[in-house]
Amino acid sequence: MSRPYSEVVRPGIAAMKLYSSNREPCAIDLSDNTNQRGAPPSARTLVPEANIELFARYPNHYAADLKRAISAHLGVGTDEIVTGCGSDDVLDSAIRAFAQPGGAIAYPDPTFVMIPYCGQVNDLALRPVPLLGPERGWDVDADALLAQRACITYVCSPNNPTGTRASAEAIERIVAEAEGVVLLDEAYIEYCGGSFVRRAKDAGRLLVIRTFSKAFGLAGARVGYAIGAPELVAAVEVSRGPYKVTQLAERVTVSALENDAAWVEGGIREVLDARARFMPFLERLGLKPIPSDANFVLVPVKDAAAQTKALRERGVAVRPFPKLPGFGDAVRISVGPWEIMERALPSFEEVLSCV
Ligand SMILES: *Cc1c(COP(=O)(O)O)cnc(C)c1O
Repeated sequence: MSRPYSEVVRPGIAAMKLYSSNREPCAIDLSDNTNQRGAPPSARTLVPEANIELFARYPNHYAADLKRAISAHLGVGTDEIVTGCGSDDVLDSAIRAFAQPGGAIAYPDPTFVMIPYCGQVNDLALRPVPLLGPERGWDVDADALLAQRACITYVCSPNNPTGTRASAEAIERIVAEAEGVVLLDEAYIEYCGGSFVRRAKDAGRLLVIRTFSKAFGLAGARVGYAIGAPELVAAVEVSRGPYKVTQLAERVTVSALENDAAWVEGGIREVLDARARFMPFLERLGLKPIPSDANFVLVPVKDAAAQTKALRERGVAVRPFPKLPGFGDAVRISVGPWEIMERALPSFEEVLSCV
């Protein structure tokens, strides 16, 4: 007789719920920080013409063409790059690679929800560390993170869902003093600059994680990568396994890197312009949006669930964050071109209010 589910599945995984978020279609969807303008121009021409061979054959094992294109884009060696099926996959593979038995993962709280998720999947003890307060610009607490002596320390900058950045000093200290591996998630770095990618190799224990899902507009292609010292990157690649980036995804991503730099830059400028107009709009409503370095804004509100529901009834989707540590109830609003934001303003004006 086969063993019951509870005995074959690791207890940590059996105790978990499937990750979910509201994916109901919605007229103005500002709920997930993807590029509001959609896929870049060359992807639109590539996809319908895609050769059937792209689907009939396996891709190359570890996306060598993509590594060459990333290498040219960032000026790092191809042996310093590991790719994956979205940066979620790269993070998961890295955590799997470095999760010592009985170990812990330390991370700022609040941060990217996939981190406690992947930590739990890998049986790590979760060590959330509160962000420093508004008077410190919501910086990460380097002392408290280091004090966890975790085998993995994760920092997200700009941070999801707060939009705030970790200071360079805090990151430097964590990288210099952490006992284990440091994962620095730069999913939104294109919106503010100050990347650590060129520092990763010499830092030795630092992996900088990047994605094509946000500024590059390719969330559906599922392509992310990490930059680090070759030995570190090799361990993540073993953990990851082959064939994680599809042929079509690899072609589309290489094409975007080679042809769409101006489109990406234009989109970033559009987001920064729209955010600069959106913040004072929110403040005029009496709200206190958290200053953001990313393509979204966290807005503390009276009742995140109720206001998210009311916005959806008006055709506007945002992401609710009830009882967010340090912030209370809040909603996260993605920022796209002003023409799109403008259409949502009357609904925000009707619905949003803070305590
Ligand atoms: C959106 C996001 C990612 C990107 O995930 P993909 O799997 O590459 O789509 C990674 N980290 C953070 C913090 C994010 O917000």
